[in-house]
Amino acid sequence: MSRELDVARLELPRDEKGFVRRECPACGRTFKTRPSRHDAHAVHRRLTSLFPFENAHESGDSEGPPWCCLYCGHKAPTDSWLTTEQHVHVERVARAWANHVRYEQLAHVTRTLSQNPRPTFVVVPPEDLPGPMPPDSESLRVIPMVCCGEDVQALWEWDSALYCPRCGAHHGGLSGRQQIHLRFIQE
Ligand SMILES: [Zn+2]
Ligand SMILES: [Zn+2]
Repeated sequence: MSRELDVARLELPRDEKGFVRRECPACGRTFKTRPSRHDAHAVHRRLTSLFPFENAHESGDSEGPPWCCLYCGHKAPTDSWLTTEQHVHVERVARAWANHVRYEQLAHVTRTLSQNPRPTFVVVPPEDLPGPMPPDSESLRVIPMVCCGEDVQALWEWDSALYCPRCGAHHGGLSGRQQIHLRFIQE
C-alpha cells in the first residue's frame, strides 16, 4: 500500500475570522491577512526544500508579487512569511513523510523476500503523519486597508504607521487620534 501526501491538505491555520498569521522575515513581528492563493506555493516551496519529493508536483500556483510588512515595510516574496510555528509544523510533516518513504522502500525489500531470503533488518512502521496545526485562537486588531479594500490584523500595541501588505501603501498612525498635519509657512 502506498500513501499519497496531499500537499493541499497541509494548510496554514486560520483564526475564527478566517485570517492567516504571517511573520515578517525582517522585524519578526506577526500580523494577519486573508488567506492567499499563493499560500500553497509557499508551503510547497518550504516542504520541497526540506525533503526532495520524488513525485513533487508544483502546486500549480506561482509565486505572486512580493508582500510588505505591515509594520516595517520590508518587502519579500510571498513564501518568506511563514511564522516560526508554521515552519516547525512543515518541518515535522517533511520529516514524518521522509520516514514513511523510507519505510515503504525497506518494506518493499522484505516483500520481495523470495529474491532476498536473509534480510538483515526488521522494518518498523513509522508514526502517523502529524495532524493539522491547531487553529489560530488569538485575535488581533482588525484594520481595513482602504487602498486595497482588504482587512488585515495588527498587534494591539502597535499604534504607529502601517504599510499595506499587498500594495505597500503607507498609512498614518492608528492611535485613534485624528491625524492632522499642520504646516506653518513663514514668509
Ligand atoms: Zn517587519
Ligand atoms: Zn493596499
